[in-house]
Amino acid sequence: MAIINYQLSIIVPLFNEGESLPDLIGQLYAAMAEKELHALFVEPFSFEIILVDDGSTDDSCKVIGRMIHSMPELRLISFQRNFGKTAALSAGFMAATGDLVCTIDADLQDDPFAIKGMIRKLHEGYDLVSGWKQERKDPLSKTLPSKLFNGVTRMFTGITLHDFNCGLKVYRKEVTRRLELHGDMHRYIPVLAQWMGFRITELPVEHRARKFGTTKYGSSRFFSGLFDFLSVLFITRYLRRPMHFFGMAGLLSFLSGFIISLYITLDKILLNKPVSNRPILFLGILLLILGVQLFSTGLLGEMLSTSSSKADAFAVRETNNLTPGEAKKFGTTD
Ligand code: UDP
Ligand code: MG
Repeated sequence: MAIINYQLSIIVPLFNEGESLPDLIGQLYAAMAEKELHALFVEPFSFEIILVDDGSTDDSCKVIGRMIHSMPELRLISFQRNFGKTAALSAGFMAATGDLVCTIDADLQDDPFAIKGMIRKLHEGYDLVSGWKQERKDPLSKTLPSKLFNGVTRMFTGITLHDFNCGLKVYRKEVTRRLELHGDMHRYIPVLAQWMGFRITELPVEHRARKFGTTKYGSSRFFSGLFDFLSVLFITRYLRRPMHFFGMAGLLSFLSGFIISLYITLDKILLNKPVSNRPILFLGILLLILGVQLFSTGLLGEMLSTSSSKADAFAVRETNNLTPGEAKKFGTTD
């Protein structure tokens, strides 16, 4: 089958959303038929909807199966088991052929008719427009932790978005091609995109209460969210220079251990004080060993980061006068 270059690829990660799907797909098609949307594109407007079934155990696949034959814009990727929303988005990004890529949740909480406004915003000169659920229609058990999550992320990253984890986002394909996601990192996509130098912004979008099914995120998300936050912080700051992190921590630990041990040794030699019954001795030894360990971790990190060709040290916005092959190497089409 020939590869078609669509104008817009819509990616829908879904896990047990069978009840919402007919409505969602109906609304997506209605939103894609709007004249205001078509007017935003120079070439004739075309779209694809990539449904990524993340190992659903309900009738989601059957529901899709019934529709897919009469709707040529629908495409399906079905996972063997539940791998999580991040994996589903990654698979969608890999399959997308559109110049613009849009992600939307399958549970009808996001409004498909907001997509055109986000594309208009993108045309103002952005690479990623993230939705902002200004009035979030979720129980307090979700809205409170989400406020905390957004506040902490804002504080540590200096990025002034209100809502990092909105399911509704519109990207230029250059962004989705470069994103390397793992764990539950979909929550930090704007952080990673900004770190790569892409221009990001947000747009308030309407949010709806969940009509069918239940949320897929329980309390475990607090922990996975915390670990992913640490790894995103590390990636964006130290991926290319792990020694700056581990080396500094190792040096501080080793120096403190050295000073403590020196102090105890001098005490013994000059004042003949006993050594073995002093707890601080163990602290000194511990800090010395920890220091060496941290230092070697940094060295190993350096070796890994210099030998890995995947994480480029730069992101290119555009190239000029290169052959198509060269431009492709830089992730641009020239
Ligand atoms: N989702 C998924 N895989 C998962 C969990 C969720 O593809 O393991 C999808 C889910 O079907 C929905 C979107 O991700 O389309 C957002 O999930 P959910 O609505 O449960 O999150 P919430 O809105 O409650 O934060
Ligand atoms: Mg939801």
